[in-house]
Amino acid sequence: MNQYDVTVVGSGPGGYVAAIRCAQLGLKTALIEKYPTLGGTCLNVGCIPSKALLDSSEHYHNAHSVFAEHGIGLDNLTVDMNRMIDRKAGVVKANVEGIGYLMKKNKIDVLTGVGAFVDKNHLSITPLGGGEAQQIETKNVIIATGSKPTVLPFIAQDKQRIITSTEALNIREVPKHMIVIGGGVIGLEMASVYARLGAKVSVVEFMDSLIPTMDRGLGKELKRVLGKIGIEFFMSHKVTGATREGDTVTVTATNAKGEEVTFEGDYCLVAVGRAPYTAGLNLEAAGVAMEERGRIKVDEHLQTNVPGIYAIGDVIRGAMLAHKAEEEGVFVAETIVGQKPHINYLLIPGVVYTWPEVAGVGYTEEQLKEQGKAYKVGSFPFKASGRARASGDTDGFVKVLADKTTDEILGVHMIGPRIADLIAEAVTAMEFRASAEDVARMSHSHPTYAEAMKEACLAATENRAIHM
Ligand code: FAD
Ligand code: NAD
Repeated sequence: MNQYDVTVVGSGPGGYVAAIRCAQLGLKTALIEKYPTLGGTCLNVGCIPSKALLDSSEHYHNAHSVFAEHGIGLDNLTVDMNRMIDRKAGVVKANVEGIGYLMKKNKIDVLTGVGAFVDKNHLSITPLGGGEAQQIETKNVIIATGSKPTVLPFIAQDKQRIITSTEALNIREVPKHMIVIGGGVIGLEMASVYARLGAKVSVVEFMDSLIPTMDRGLGKELKRVLGKIGIEFFMSHKVTGATREGDTVTVTATNAKGEEVTFEGDYCLVAVGRAPYTAGLNLEAAGVAMEERGRIKVDEHLQTNVPGIYAIGDVIRGAMLAHKAEEEGVFVAETIVGQKPHINYLLIPGVVYTWPEVAGVGYTEEQLKEQGKAYKVGSFPFKASGRARASGDTDGFVKVLADKTTDEILGVHMIGPRIADLIAEAVTAMEFRASAEDVARMSHSHPTYAEAMKEACLAATENRAIHM
């Protein structure tokens, strides 16, 4: 029987990063993945394919609706969905093969099949379709089995017309009318893809705000801007059912007045969150305890109630984000070898890859109010940015929240062009506990979108913005 120092179950961004860090630290490491391709949700049916389609659809939208104002004319513009989806598949393939290469480079044994506990130090690996299982012995286990789309019990998803994000990444036609249940991250990213390609898109959201967990100002501005590409929003609508007849889907919802509202379309995307995934792991055999909502319970070292068994990523508490899972993978590997790593969960940024992009880090204004914290606000709109005017991306703003007394930056919330990358400056500043004035006094290249961060920090510092 093969023996390992560490066995990682699940090859998503949590699992494969944990495995690499373990190997770097000299631990004999195995990685168990039930599917034939590595990379988990993120690489196969999440972050990477969605961004490939967001980029493709953005090119089409620009060619269709933006090029003309730059003086560029195009005749006979077409969308070839087969080619777009095949390109996306190629992007995914290159990425998952890259992970395979990294496993070989780091001498990690990849074991393909469903991993299940036999006891706390033994795991069986059974091929997905059944067949002979192999067993291994291991000193430590890192559970990184991720999540699956939440299922609404009153909706029968046929995965053809009533679909999850997985199928939404594979539609080989432009829908006529896509009804999206949920105005969260997945709902808005996929709504953007198909609205840009010419579909009518209706987003039906339970709350009165889009992306409700982010700073409220961001959802408000995003709703306004996405409305400009034709997406219709039905806020404070609780979906109560969805049925299919032929190629027609009918979605019912209850609005804020308690009235029943009906939507008819050809596709319905259910995007109401994701749930931790532990099916098939046989956690009971190892005695691993769970907590609410199907998550594995962990302590501050990300160790379960069983010594030597850890859990990371979407399967435990916290934001369901690839970079959160990655940080936790590194954290556990370093903990196993006796190091004292640290994760500052407050400074894990959240990003929505719509256009304009949306990003936030630190406390939201709503959280600061709730805490009764004295804070000041510095805001800078992209319409006052020379770089944004040059590219025509003048929607959005950067908002900096700083401690009223010490000027320490407490939160940064942005909506605008390329801010998925720009938020990294805010994370760096906050990780070093910078004041708004610290950032305001740093040189930012001109003309860049990043100048909006400097200007918002200037605005927070005695209202000293220069270009506003
Ligand atoms: P996962 O990536 O879910 O990987 C878990 C792996 O474990 C899977 O490969 C699964 O097959 C395997 N597994 C499960 N059980 C077993 C078992 N018993 N034996 C063997 N293998 C098993 N996050 C971002 O940060 N940025 C984004 O832009 C982004 N976009 C997204 C877009 C979409 C459409 C979706 C659905 C998600 C997106 N996410 C994004 C979220 C991100 O994908 C997840 O947070 C991330 O993948 C979680 O990583 P993980 O390692 O915890 O689990
Ligand atoms: P979400 O939690 O972001 O949004 C779900 C939305 O559905 C919420 O706004 C909720 O109010 C709404 N909702 C729930 N029940 C409803 C009902 N009956 N009727 C109408 N609306 C209802 O979840 P998601 O968009 O499915 O994304 C799942 C996870 O994947 C998120 O946690 C996110 O972190 C991750 N993800 C991240 C990215 C990114 O980082 N860019 C992209 C995609 C997904």
